Amino acid sequence: MSIAAPTETAATGRLGELLARAEQLYEDLDFKAVLDWKSKDKTRRAIGFLPVYVPREVIHAAGGLPVGIMGGGDQTEIVRGDSYFQSYICHLPRSVIELLVNGRLDAMDGFLFPSICDVIRNLSGMFKLLKPEKYVHYLDLPQNFQRGLGGRFYGHEMRSVADAVGRMTGVAPTDESLRNSIKVYNANRRAINELLKLRVDKPWLVPATEYYLVLRAGYLLPVEEHTAMLGEYVKLVQASDRRPMDNIRVMVRGAFCEQPPLALLRTLERAGCYLVDDDLAVGLRLVPDPVSEEGDPWEALAEAFMHHSLPTASVYDEQNQKGRLLIDKAREVRADGVLLMAPSFCDPALLDQPMLQTALEKAGIPFTSFKYSEDTGQFQVIREQAGTFADAIKLWGTV
Ligand code: SF4
Repeated sequence: MSIAAPTETAATGRLGELLARAEQLYEDLDFKAVLDWKSKDKTRRAIGFLPVYVPREVIHAAGGLPVGIMGGGDQTEIVRGDSYFQSYICHLPRSVIELLVNGRLDAMDGFLFPSICDVIRNLSGMFKLLKPEKYVHYLDLPQNFQRGLGGRFYGHEMRSVADAVGRMTGVAPTDESLRNSIKVYNANRRAINELLKLRVDKPWLVPATEYYLVLRAGYLLPVEEHTAMLGEYVKLVQASDRRPMDNIRVMVRGAFCEQPPLALLRTLERAGCYLVDDDLAVGLRLVPDPVSEEGDPWEALAEAFMHHSLPTASVYDEQNQKGRLLIDKAREVRADGVLLMAPSFCDPALLDQPMLQTALEKAGIPFTSFKYSEDTGQFQVIREQAGTFADAIKLWGTV
């Protein structure tokens, strides 16, 4: 698979090398990069986590490598995965099972399943049955956001994960090591925010496929390496001679868990859309701003998740603000329209859609919606739909 940049010329030189590396990581379904990392020290341990979000700082503080398991994408043929799940659910759990039973997740020493939906809960149960020798933990994220209730509960959950990882690595996590991990991840947050800002200011410099590959590399790379990659990418594209095209500016919502294939993102851009904001791979930036580096680090992480995370269908919307926040974001990034694209059969995304549509209608912001799956292979219909959406906005400012 190769990247055809919508800026017409494929990246060359150092930028081309960096993108080739990011693409290699995207396609690394045997997690060779993780095996390579582990081979350098036999005490190293990798903890795989399912979408959407886990507090990676906690794993880092216990000496582990957090690794995102984002499904098998469009490169995994499902042979045995289908026998574990009924046909009317999303695609991601089947491909994850397929990776597991084929030994492609053997690099992981443990697995975390954040509480985002029933599918992930069931998947965690299957992992427990199929891999009784491995650490498998269903990470209950809080639904109550009071510090003394949900915050306390979440702190307990995080400590239990830290202790379990620490037992594997022999590194006992301390307040000091967790504070240090928060600093390291804060540097990553700043680097991601620079990339996001550049994309909003000059979307022609940051094609969606490149943005996605460079961001997603953070699921496999040690965080320090990922921060360096982000910084280098931003510098390289700023120095490039890429020019603006006559594209509309769109936001994407609904793609927070099962990821669309890379070719779908390329299709959207070829249809005339610049992605200026999205929720792709959002677990890497669910807490967008730096977490407090002072005081109790467990409380700081709990506070960040409960009160400073991005709105997404997998996080309980205690104050019913998602519609308003969507409109605020659309205005902030000067979006001409919104693409509501959700994985087929994804309950959290599809249950959110009517609320988001109502907010968009009230605000007079054009939107269109479609479904995908991680192995979608036909893009003609989506290209026509997105192309018509873009043309209508260019011609009339609405659809
Ligand atoms: S795609 Fe949706 S339904 Fe499927 S595992 Fe993710 S959140 Fe759950």
